[in-house]
Amino acid sequence: MVSDPRVSPVYVGSEIYRNSSYGPKHPLAIPRVSTCTDLCRALGWLPDARFVEAPIATDAELARFHDPAYVAALRRAEATQSASPEDRARFRIGVEGNPIYREMFRRPAISAGGVILAARLTRDGGVVHCPAGGTHHGRRDRAAGFCFINDPVLGLYAWLDAGLDNIVYLDIDAHHGDGVQDAFHDDPRVFTISVHEDGRWPFTGAAEDRAGGAARNFPVPPGCNDSELDWLMRHAILPLVRTRRPQAIMLQCGADALEEDPLAKLSLSNNAHWAVARAMRGLAPRLVVLGGGGYNPWTVGRCWAGIWATLNGFSVPDRLPPAAEAVLRGLRFDRAAGRNPPAHWSTTLRDPPREGPVRAPVKRLAELALTETLPA
Ligand SMILES: [Zn+2]
Repeated sequence: MVSDPRVSPVYVGSEIYRNSSYGPKHPLAIPRVSTCTDLCRALGWLPDARFVEAPIATDAELARFHDPAYVAALRRAEATQSASPEDRARFRIGVEGNPIYREMFRRPAISAGGVILAARLTRDGGVVHCPAGGTHHGRRDRAAGFCFINDPVLGLYAWLDAGLDNIVYLDIDAHHGDGVQDAFHDDPRVFTISVHEDGRWPFTGAAEDRAGGAARNFPVPPGCNDSELDWLMRHAILPLVRTRRPQAIMLQCGADALEEDPLAKLSLSNNAHWAVARAMRGLAPRLVVLGGGGYNPWTVGRCWAGIWATLNGFSVPDRLPPAAEAVLRGLRFDRAAGRNPPAHWSTTLRDPPREGPVRAPVKRLAELALTETLPA
């Protein structure tokens, strides 16, 4: 019997992520969701009644957004562990960071099933954490940016199909949430907000890009610190969300926006992500929190376990108990940072805060976002 998410938050997970890899040389060679789940269990934060197994999305559910021919190509690629030149060219399978790997259909289809379930569980309200979700670059008929299926879009459709018509999607991954923004371009029912590193792939999400009125974008400069994200929250994002009085909020918490991530150059600490999750809790009767990017296994696991603590109001211990420390000590990482990880990556969950000056371009982004009419 699963807890009522209106009474206490529910965690949607799966064992499919354990030992799943995009291949040894890929940034997604690392464990992520399994680390988060293991940490939450080791800390006594995840009793069985609060954990729900993500189901695999059905073809009909995937077809709510994705081209059935593309879904069939994903199944084919998993079954044969190969892709024809036509499927590579048409669907971008097996190219550009979207590799053919063992669970390449089941894994994203289970993430999609998890996010759809999260939306259904919160139909009447409540909070659900689905750290495997957040594949925000996936397109209707092609893979993009390590994402095969766009689980945020499918979860947002599940809310729309349940009759909601005023939803906020907030994305604090280091990369622009392009796939979600484009899926709801011109759609007043889903307002998308993305904070991302300026000048980084996919090179979209300029401050002036409002997706026909349904979006706001905050392309922050490299080095963005906790104080700067806090500034954007207080001066732009919170006012934007409060004004809309949304029925539901979906928050994508990509951990690649944190300082130690090897793929981006932002300088946030995990306190920044936890503060955003805390702020979103009271702003809508329904909240679904997803994961997203994140390519340092310690950073990702610590960030997302702390998100679960934040949603529950659990206090994070200064020093982790031995069982939780053992989870972090067991991680391996084939990059320079993995050869000699600093002790606090294994002994703590909370980073030291990374506060700093709020630079003029950040203040300008906040002002621009609240301007009704953009300057010509
Ligand atoms: Zn990212």
